[in-house]
Amino acid sequence: MLKTHYATEVNSGLLGQTVTLAGWVDRRRDHGSLIFIDLRDVSGVIQLAINPEVEPHAHEIGSTLRNEYVVQVTGQVAMRPEGTQNSKLPTGDIEISVKKVEILARAKTPPFYINEEVEVDENVRLRYRYLDLRRSRMKRNILTRHSVIRYMRNFLDSKGFAEVDTPILIKSTPEGARDYLVPSRIYPGKFYALPQSPQQMKQLLMVAGLEKYYQIAKCFRDEDTRADRQPEFTQLDIEMSFVEEGDIMALMEELFSGLVPAIRPDIKVVMPFTRLTYAEAMERFGCDKPDLRYDLQINDVTDITAASGFGVFQKAASAGGRIRGIAAPGCGNYSRRELDGLQEIARSTGAGGVVTVSLGKPGTPAGELEMEDVHSIAAKYMDIEQIRQVATRLKAAGGDLLLLAAGDDDTTSAVLDRLRREIARRLSLADEKTFHFCFVTDFPLFYRDTEHNRWDSMHHPFTSPREEDKPVVAEKPGEVFGRHYDLVLNGYEIAGGSIRIHEADLQRMIFRLLAYTDEQIDERFGHMLEAFSYGAPPHGGIAAGIDRFVMLLCQESSIREVIPFPKNQNAQDLTFGAPDFVAPEQLDDLHIKIDDKIS
Ligand code: ASP
Repeated sequence: MLKTHYATEVNSGLLGQTVTLAGWVDRRRDHGSLIFIDLRDVSGVIQLAINPEVEPHAHEIGSTLRNEYVVQVTGQVAMRPEGTQNSKLPTGDIEISVKKVEILARAKTPPFYINEEVEVDENVRLRYRYLDLRRSRMKRNILTRHSVIRYMRNFLDSKGFAEVDTPILIKSTPEGARDYLVPSRIYPGKFYALPQSPQQMKQLLMVAGLEKYYQIAKCFRDEDTRADRQPEFTQLDIEMSFVEEGDIMALMEELFSGLVPAIRPDIKVVMPFTRLTYAEAMERFGCDKPDLRYDLQINDVTDITAASGFGVFQKAASAGGRIRGIAAPGCGNYSRRELDGLQEIARSTGAGGVVTVSLGKPGTPAGELEMEDVHSIAAKYMDIEQIRQVATRLKAAGGDLLLLAAGDDDTTSAVLDRLRREIARRLSLADEKTFHFCFVTDFPLFYRDTEHNRWDSMHHPFTSPREEDKPVVAEKPGEVFGRHYDLVLNGYEIAGGSIRIHEADLQRMIFRLLAYTDEQIDERFGHMLEAFSYGAPPHGGIAAGIDRFVMLLCQESSIREVIPFPKNQNAQDLTFGAPDFVAPEQLDDLHIKIDDKIS
């Protein structure tokens, strides 16, 4: 190699020895005739000292070095002079007294600072991703990603799982998103689809008798890009035979509770993982992926408020809806502007708004509040006893702010979920160094797609109904529960899976319920039904989003920060310039004509 050591391998144990290092010039400082260079390589940074009196030639080259030049240096390991040590660097007590410098590559001035953590426009960073990844935070993120994947592989290997890779060019498999399609050259007019997940293949591996499968799998879903969503993403995909829900959940609990401290010993994992049913999660937190690091629970106050003369409450209750609320501790003194901000957030969910009740006299127990302490448009229509009861139900006291939403459950849940997260953000209630995992179970098997007036799968069509529900699936699809479980971490869904259907008849019946014709079923899923007719074991699995989990582990707020080459917010790859037009001959090969209106 062109080096004998990596920068941070050099330490005071090597004092007086000659070493050769290679890397990038992180920064140069001229102190009179003495030149100091911070040399950066993948391991970190070390200081080089180039003294003209020791090596005039090296000094001559040293004075031409600029940031990001690639150099090879040879020199002696020396202690830094007393008082010049840098305790923040692992190599901060030593330096290399340089004998020889060679420039391996020169560099243009980069479009942004590599050696400083400064805010840079994301599109510029993505255009020059190879420079962005040179920055220490990004390098740390990518290496953390590596450690996570390695841990997963070792863990599953130790549990007897086999890693099996599956193809990228397949036939469409439904996960509820739009497919990416690849035109076939050999079969004009036909297309492959990129997998939204290896779902059907992992199930076929169970039919094949593999029993314990996993894969670090790429998945492709043509959806709008968000902070926690990319057109292509990576998941840890797992499937097992002869298991029930508890087996998969126990496996995940063991994996993640071991993984987090192995990589981030400073993060506390709440044990054991919390378990909530879907109904409980929706009732108490307004969503199926609650952040449990803080309380702020939702409570139903319909029985107290419906009878008040307040129109908003009356209308909601008489339409069969409910009045539910949360209390924001210590926010009773919010200004008009702050309250308006909350209104805006409530409305952004599509709801009419939220009723705010500001309580004065900090510390006063709910039962001792007086009307003069209450500020709200609802106050005129409610008596003090009702307000005291609402405050008591919401575990509030003087000085707090009550947020009440009225309407059907979907509406109030959406509003209160958003407000709950917002209040937690404003009050910094979520401890960054706590990981609170939670399994959510007992999801309905279907939901009503009102736009198309049909049933759709809550998870995907391969999820099994509960055993006791099997006989009534066709009769009462809206009341049936699925054997589906999600793993939630700090407000993010980080994994989802289910026990599958392994009976051909039941699978066909579910497809029919999802409004597929028999012809469509045979054409699209005939291979699965056929496979199930050759002795399929009961099986189930799960898939965990690696990007999202690494994002949380690195305390980043976008998965783009932990993906080496992500798409930008508009689904473009700016490093390569994709998507792009292609040569007309390529299109001819694929029997594709571009609409005149486009080019
Ligand atoms: N295929 C599912 C997904 O990608 C996971 C699973 O059911 O195992 O979300």
